[in-house]
Amino acid sequence: MGLTCAVRLAEAGHDTHVLARDLPLETTSAVAAAMWYPYLAQPREAVTRWAGRTFEVLEGLSRTHPQSGVRMRAGTELLSTDRPVDPWWRDAVPSLETVARPRDGYGSGWRMTVPVADMATYLSFLVDRLTAAGGTLTRAWLADLPDTGYVVNATGLASRALADDESLTPVRGQVVRVVQIGLDEWLLDDSDPARPLYVVPRERDVVVGGTAERGSWDRTPDPATTRQVLARATALVPELAGAQVVGHRVGLRPARPTVRLEAVPHQSGSEGGVVHCYGHGGAGVTLSWGCADDVLHAVEHLAEVTPVAQKPALR
Ligand SMILES: Cc1cc2nc3c(=O)[nH]c(=O)nc-3n(C[C@H](O)[C@H](O)[C@H](O)COP(=O)(O)OP(=O)(O)OC[C@H]3O[C@@H](n4cnc5c(N)ncnc54)[C@H](O)[C@@H]3O)c2cc1C
Repeated sequence: MGLTCAVRLAEAGHDTHVLARDLPLETTSAVAAAMWYPYLAQPREAVTRWAGRTFEVLEGLSRTHPQSGVRMRAGTELLSTDRPVDPWWRDAVPSLETVARPRDGYGSGWRMTVPVADMATYLSFLVDRLTAAGGTLTRAWLADLPDTGYVVNATGLASRALADDESLTPVRGQVVRVVQIGLDEWLLDDSDPARPLYVVPRERDVVVGGTAERGSWDRTPDPATTRQVLARATALVPELAGAQVVGHRVGLRPARPTVRLEAVPHQSGSEGGVVHCYGHGGAGVTLSWGCADDVLHAVEHLAEVTPVAQKPALR
């Protein structure tokens, strides 16, 4: 999220510097599958708008910048009902087709073609774009948010402490990566909220997940969970049987009742303020470009407002 905001700001001509405790490949974002899908993020109206904008940008990248690691992939979300209604985020996706009985045991499904990002490649692509626009990325751990200048707080779950926000909760996700075995389409079954099942093919591997354990801070992959995830996925996608496992990862989704995207002037009255942008749950990639547009707008709006300390009446 922070990198996307930084690219947006730097390319709009702002002097932009990212400070991060973990470098891109060490973050929660690097664990993401990462397909476009509005999952565990609210509120509906804003999420639909952010997701729609991000779809546009990622779809464009898949055509104009294949080196970005973003690719359009068709797939199916499996539904138990045989009378599906459109998802609440329907307006964010250009086309969505309802199909009957896509698999045994499922009454219907939504078929759609969505962007999928290979995060290792995509995050490096964003870093390159940031530096090409004059921005920088430095490893740095901040004990507090700076209280001068223009600050974008995109620290995900760490905003619990940095922004004193106890409404943020981890939703633990465990995934296993197997070698690419010729799969082209993704598959998703979100009917069990604690055990979303997804198979997301990428160029060199296939991400198989997963779990959604609310309140768990445990970052260690559990071998029993891996076995269960693979067994459930193989029942749906038999080609996965015996596929070589190349990695296990756990990430803590930064869930919040609603995404926080809000500008707050510095309490000290000094110029600038903090634009908070966190709490994207299971949809940080899906909402990234839409939120980055709003962050850019919020930063520029903060800059337009006369700093409180310089207003004679308030001095
Ligand atoms: C298993 C799994 C699968 C997922 N699949 C998808 C998917 O398919 N599609 C999708 O859209 N989303 C998916 N997500 C969700 C997505 O990964 C998150 O929404 C996203 O990573 C949140 O991004 P972020 O930038 O807010 O947080 P992070 O990626 O956690 O980045 C936060 C940054 O802030 C830095 N930071 C924190 N504290 C400090 C500090 N004190 N000082 C300095 N820096 C600090 C961190 O080091 C890090 O660089 C998935 C998540 C998981 C766990």
